[in-house]
Parts: sequence; C-alpha cells; structure tokens
Amino acid sequence: MTLHDAHCHFLSSRFYEMLGREKYGPEAGMTADRVAGELGWDPAGPADVLAQRWIAELDRHHVSRAALIASVPGDEDSVAAAVARHPTRFVGYFALNATAPDALERARHAFADLGLRCVCLFPAMHRYRLDDERVVALFEVAATHRGVVFAHCGYLSIEARSRLGLRSTFDIRFGDPLALSATAVSFPTVPVIVPHFGSGFFREALMAAETCATIHFDTSSSNNWIKFVPGLALSEVFRRALAIAGPDRLLFGTDSSFFPRGWRKVIHGAQQAILEEIGAESATARKIFSGNFERLFGN
Ligand SMILES: [Zn+2]
Repeated sequence: MTLHDAHCHFLSSRFYEMLGREKYGPEAGMTADRVAGELGWDPAGPADVLAQRWIAELDRHHVSRAALIASVPGDEDSVAAAVARHPTRFVGYFALNATAPDALERARHAFADLGLRCVCLFPAMHRYRLDDERVVALFEVAATHRGVVFAHCGYLSIEARSRLGLRSTFDIRFGDPLALSATAVSFPTVPVIVPHFGSGFFREALMAAETCATIHFDTSSSNNWIKFVPGLALSEVFRRALAIAGPDRLLFGTDSSFFPRGWRKVIHGAQQAILEEIGAESATARKIFSGNFERLFGN
C-alpha cells in the first residue's frame, strides 16, 4: 500500500541556531551543531544534505512522500530548498506567527515564490485566537494561492524546547478547534489540517469537523493526549473520527523529526493495527495512508 506521511519536521541548521540564540543569546555564537549535540541529536548540516538524508530514510521504509515542516518561523528557505530538490517526494509546510507584522507577506512569498503548500499556525505559542482577523487574512492568502492551513489545537509541547530547558509560555486555551471552524467555514476552498485529532480537544475537534467540511485531522504522533481522557483508547479515537469526519478527512502522519531516530515506523505499525482492529475497509486505509494526501497536495 502506498504510504505518504503528512507530518514530519525538517529540523534544519537554522532551527537549531534559532534555539541556540534563544537559550544563550545572539552574542554567544552558539552553532547549530552544538545545539543539536546538546539535545543528543545528529547535526542537520546544509538543507540539501538533510533533504538527502530524509530521502534515504523514506526509501528505507518505503514511504513515497512526506510533508516537511519548517518548524520555526523564518525557516521557510530550508524546506523550500528540500522541496526544490525533490519535488515529487516532499511537500513543504512552514510555521508562521500570524501576529507578526510581516505575516501576510511571508505567507504570500512562501506560497507564491517558494512553492510551499501549507502554512502552520501555533496559536497557543504565539497567543492569538483562531477567529482573529489576522487569521482570517491568512486564510484569504491561502485561498488565493490554493494553500492549505494547518492549525495546532489543544495541548502543545515541543520536545526540543523542553529538552533544552527553554521556557515555553504557551497558552493552550488559544488552540480552540471551534474558533478555527468559525474562521474556516467562510473559506470552502481552503483545506484545513488539525494535527493529532485536536491534541486533547477531541470533542471540540469533532464538533468543528462536523460544522466545517474542510477540516481534516492528521493522525500523527503517539497521541499521548489520550491520557487526558479517562478510559480513551486510540482505537476509539479512530473509530469516532471516522464516524464523524469520515474516511476522506484523515491523513496519516508520524510527527517524525530528528535523527538518528528518523522515521517513526512504530507509529505506522500501531495505526495500521488499529485500522485492522476496528475493521476499517482497505479503501478507507488507502485514503488515510495516501489518497487524502494526494487529493490535498496533488499526485
Ligand atoms: Zn509535529
């Protein structure tokens, strides 16, 4: 079965540099490789080298295509370089702070000039509501450029930040799927991806999906958020999401990020087993593992 991964982080040298600058200050001259080393992760090297490493990793696991997320605002060029080198294998996503003064221009540039396909919003990190007028304006840019909007709702933690001991002043109340649907419903041509089934705001994410036909879920990560819901098993999450959003609105993802761990095969295995356990038809599995990705991002 063809396999596409809708959620991988492209942890470029710039990503590590920016974390190093935040932790040690811009004057400290902390290199990307030293920050990666502090995390116990492999150095990223230049973007084209990292892209090649990803290709080898995907090949090893028979993954055809992957979405690569530029995971800090300002790192669009790294993912753009990877996509430009391997346009049939990678789809480019980019993190953006919707409250930044240049947010709209950045988004326009990323879609129109860099060939990136999906803008990633982290409202809990940057502290704004998903029905804010600045988010509406971003949806307008996405609509113009046939872009996709990814909005991280619910519980948010960023492994690199916690491992470096960086203080994260996230306000997870901003990651409200219902505020997202209030905005998204006015943009019927803009597909929206809510990762990890809403990451704890599962009930709200389901209601948002029921209200708004453009809302998709990605299945990525170990979905540890289920610990917040007594008695909930991931199989039940899949069953409920399929019952409400349907098979056309789930995208398989792993949330793979750093090397040497590489592609998280274990996530794929677990989710494949769950689909079998709940008796999902093979047509449903095909949509989740590749078909929906292709509908959003082309063949
Ligand atoms: Zn992620």
